[in-house]
Amino acid sequence: MKKVMILGSTGSIGTQTLDVIRRNEDMEVVSLAVRSNIRVLKEQVRKYHPRLVCVYEKEKALEFEKTVSGEVEVVSGMEGLVACATMTEGNIVVAAIVGMIGIRPVMEAIRAGKDIAFANKETLVTAGHLIMPLVKEKGVKLLPVDSEHAAIFMCLNGEKKEEVSKIWLTASGGPFRGKKREELENVTVEEALHHPNWSMGKKITIDSATMVNKGLEVIEARWLFSMSFDKIQVILQPQSVIHSMVEYNDGAVLAQLGTPDMRLPIEYALCYPERRERIGEPLDFTKLSEITFENPDLETFRGLSLAYEAGRIGGSMPTVFNAANEKAVALFLDRKISYLSMAELIEEMMKLHTPVKNPSLEEILEVEKEIHKRMEDKY
Ligand code: NDP
Ligand code: MG
Repeated sequence: MKKVMILGSTGSIGTQTLDVIRRNEDMEVVSLAVRSNIRVLKEQVRKYHPRLVCVYEKEKALEFEKTVSGEVEVVSGMEGLVACATMTEGNIVVAAIVGMIGIRPVMEAIRAGKDIAFANKETLVTAGHLIMPLVKEKGVKLLPVDSEHAAIFMCLNGEKKEEVSKIWLTASGGPFRGKKREELENVTVEEALHHPNWSMGKKITIDSATMVNKGLEVIEARWLFSMSFDKIQVILQPQSVIHSMVEYNDGAVLAQLGTPDMRLPIEYALCYPERRERIGEPLDFTKLSEITFENPDLETFRGLSLAYEAGRIGGSMPTVFNAANEKAVALFLDRKISYLSMAELIEEMMKLHTPVKNPSLEEILEVEKEIHKRMEDKY
């Protein structure tokens, strides 16, 4: 029996993970963690019977505890998240929280010897230099859930990493593909939330509309596959059929294709190296009219070039990039800043920062605090 701990169970990845578990008899849920959505959590507890749940917000946790009266143990805060990620009987953690708040629980889970099905990219972007050596030391598996990284992982299967000449990281281009800067000045939150191919949480949907998501994924790939940035190239593939490709020294290019459905990479990560029955729609080549490619527009979508810049500088700069973006997205969703201001703010925060080499976890969290404070003072 695979015993699964889900951090972020009420989100887009979290609910799709539960769907995968429901369809596989040899999997069960041992813990669930959310921030505040106790209505959905309650339904999940009734259906999946976890032993432990964490409601991050303390007041909500107390409110929740009253409604479940002894059905399940309820914890809260960072300690609660760590408890959910390190349960003795658990085998694998699905890291599906949004944001770098996931760093501590992910690191503690690895320390406790748990495998990780990994979606929470902000964590690896900011703390990859701490997480990857820990993964090696503890001998656990870090299995990518992000569709592009799951594709790359599959294309690397059984091959020699030294023989890879390039990773082609595909991107849909989001809702504003083909638009120029001037056309994006008055973009609304609703327009930015309208992704052409994927249905996801709000934060990553906005990240996709700015292409910051692809930037985060470039840094994520750098850590997951220990590749240099020069070998990671982003290419637009607007139909989201090719999930990413790996090119080898001899010119062979391997790709993973499929319909856009996150349940495939989630299931693959949970069952690796086994493959199970298909859950989503099959890819029907007889109905597929085209697969096209475009170069990304780095002038309009500054977020992508800033990510490469932050990644190449390294140290605490990716934390600045990520923390500024997390705050900027929240401000945009609150309608306090415009769409274009998001990348401008990230750039401004990066310019003001003197990078720290090899930051410790405490230093990373300190930098995050500093950036958020600087941005809060502005708005
Ligand atoms: P959602 O916004 O849909 O869900 C986020 C989840 O995290 C919710 O369950 C939320 O709980 C929980 N959460 C947020 N903060 C905390 C906290 N402090 N403590 C405990 N739980 C918390 O996000 P997604 O599912 O879209 O994305 C999750 C991660 O996966 C992100 O890092 C994203 O980049 C990555 N990802 C997502 C993909 C997708 O298709 N959605 C694809 C590839 C990667 P609550 O509901 O209570 O707020
Ligand atoms: Mg992705």
